[in-house]
Amino acid sequence: MKANYSGCALCDATWGDYHRTVEGTNFFFCCSICADAFENMVKEVKKVSGWSCVDSVEISGNYSNGRNCVAKRGMDEMRYFFRHENGVVTEFRKTAE
Ligand SMILES: [Zn+2]
Repeated sequence: MKANYSGCALCDATWGDYHRTVEGTNFFFCCSICADAFENMVKEVKKVSGWSCVDSVEISGNYSNGRNCVAKRGMDEMRYFFRHENGVVTEFRKTAE
């Protein structure tokens, strides 16, 4: 799976040294909370979309405003908004195509 940031896969921070494999890809994260949030977000994407896997995610936004994202699988894409608290997804909804 691809993600858009070159820093932490969730927040783009370049500090930290935490790695976790999500959807078969070893991602860099600034901390375990971002890794939890990212992993739980991907789970939510799969649950809501019904996809068995996710090819890529594109994330924008931040912790306080929440994040607007686009997930893709082949020709399909799903736009969504999510927030997390301590790595747990507290809000997740599909947004306009
Ligand atoms: Zn982070």
